[in-house]
Amino acid sequence: EWQLSPVAEPGERDDESTLRPRRLDEFVGQARVREQLQLVLQGATRRGAPPDHVLLSGPPGLGKTSLAMIIAAELGRPIRITSGPALERAGDLAAMLSNLTDGEVMFIDEIHRIARPAEEMLYLAMEDFRVDVVVGKGPGATSIPLEIAPFTLVGATTRSGSLTGPLRDRFGFTAHMEFYTPEELELVLRRSARILGIDLHAEGGAEIAGRSRGTPRIANRLLRRVRDYAEVRADGTVTREIARAALAVYDVDELGLDRLDRAVLSALVRSFGGGPVGVATLAVAVGEEPTTVEEVCEPFLVRAGMLARTPRGRVATALAWSHLGLTAPNDVPG
Ligand code: ADP
Repeated sequence: EWQLSPVAEPGERDDESTLRPRRLDEFVGQARVREQLQLVLQGATRRGAPPDHVLLSGPPGLGKTSLAMIIAAELGRPIRITSGPALERAGDLAAMLSNLTDGEVMFIDEIHRIARPAEEMLYLAMEDFRVDVVVGKGPGATSIPLEIAPFTLVGATTRSGSLTGPLRDRFGFTAHMEFYTPEELELVLRRSARILGIDLHAEGGAEIAGRSRGTPRIANRLLRRVRDYAEVRADGTVTREIARAALAVYDVDELGLDRLDRAVLSALVRSFGGGPVGVATLAVAVGEEPTTVEEVCEPFLVRAGMLARTPRGRVATALAWSHLGLTAPNDVPG
């Protein structure tokens, strides 16, 4: 089942690494973050010291991993990549930290999911470039302080709110990533098309950009699907008409809603009079897991102004009704 989740699909990673921007000036959009980061990196380079630890905060698919790799490239240092869930045992983290070379970048994706002992080990590592290695067990256990190379931690999180205070405080700079404008996504698409050798017309790019939910990962994914269609059913050129026809096959509508998004709205409006209704009930109505509805559909529907989360349940907005071609009752929220 095709879903426009902003999270990478299995098998998507290889395509993504081809399309990743390598340097800061190739990184499209996020002008504020780019300028801030440039200053952080240039300041550090002038001082000849590793920059402050950097926290990248924002929804999936907006370029956090790409930025982490760019930071390392701009510093001319290697990067070591891991994730919060992979650091279940503090020993794994200690091993990684003690193998770091001078000025290396360590990237921890989903850092809010790091286990507590590993998190506590990070405090000391980030602050003093030290780890305490515990040797032995029980009353005889001793802790040996071990110096590690000065490094830069780049953490990425989709939920900066669930980071503990002490961890958040140890990042010298936090970059808040925003959703991309359709114009920025057109630039992302133009660049991707060039790399992939796709003949993408400007109007074709605009058509895809408008349905990409502000997310480069989704834009690139749609571009690959449209390319298939263009090559199989036409001469490979992506015009506006080809983009439209291809996205119709994949059930992605003009606003970027996929079939499940529309099913959720439709159930909400047609079966529950527009709500309020609980998310579990809504999920049953569309035959999906509540977590899928809550984590994949709802964030976008809320952002698109079609669904509101209220204490009494989910409510369809007037825009949702009109998007489904229906007239909203008078008391429906805007
Ligand atoms: P995240 O780590 O936030 O989930 P990624 O860095 O993995 O996002 O980005 C997903 C894909 O989107 C990358 O493969 C890259 O091709 C593309 N992408 C993201 N941000 C940009 C950007 N600013 N410019 C060009 N491509 C981008």
